[in-house]
Amino acid sequence: MASIDIRNVRKNFGIVSVLHGVDLSIKNGEFVVLVGPSGCGKSTLLRMIAGLEEVTEGEIRIDGMRVNERAPKDRDIAMVFQSYALYPHMNVAENMSYGLRIRKAAREKITAAVSNAARKLELQPLLARRPKALSGGQRQRVAMGRAIVRQPKAFLFDEPLSNLDARLREQMRAEIKKLHRDLGATSIYVTHDQIEAMTLADRIVAMHEGVVQQVGSPLQLYDRPANLFVAGFIGSPA
Ligand code: ADP
Ligand code: MG
Repeated sequence: MASIDIRNVRKNFGIVSVLHGVDLSIKNGEFVVLVGPSGCGKSTLLRMIAGLEEVTEGEIRIDGMRVNERAPKDRDIAMVFQSYALYPHMNVAENMSYGLRIRKAAREKITAAVSNAARKLELQPLLARRPKALSGGQRQRVAMGRAIVRQPKAFLFDEPLSNLDARLREQMRAEIKKLHRDLGATSIYVTHDQIEAMTLADRIVAMHEGVVQQVGSPLQLYDRPANLFVAGFIGSPA
């Protein structure tokens, strides 16, 4: 597990400012859900935490250590995307082991980690398949398997279930919560889905136009929304 501290983080793309000074402290083992309309900067914030995007101003600390200049692979964080982002030319086992292989882990360690993750996610029968021979739900399972084999300190989920149908979303939601608990990781989860936010979150972070509007438990946001934007998001069932 890891604590993640985001201090006055700003992001500009050229002359366009998309995050205007975000402050957020996430505790060890916490499940934080980030909500907000399309374009408000959710993915950009996750990408900066993962190191996939440079921080324009401010600081990101993981377990108290500044990571702004640290390469993604040295941050001990795994990201799960909506688009799965699997390597098409690799089978499931190869996709899952890739992160350990590029870190030059020992072969026995890789085998054990892959089989452990495959068991957790019920992927054993699919290990030799290529991504194109899998359903959407199975692909997202592989993407999660790939994230957990490295046993990262933190998971960043960017709308991981948006491409799945409602029944599968519900099932995967329960699995994600269970994985988070089992692995004792810290998770930040971006979603448009209110039910996902309310059921998964220890705390919800509501963002609008590059500014954090409110941070609190699902109940706090529901009972005492800080403004109309938060009330609109939490109050009206989808
Ligand atoms: P969200 O995930 O909340 O939908 P994003 O973080 O993807 O929002 O995007 C926030 C804003 O930053 C949007 O206006 C988007 O167009 C802009 N943006 C994101 N990535 C880039 C980029 N690489 N170059 C320029 N603008 C970008
Ligand atoms: Mg996004």
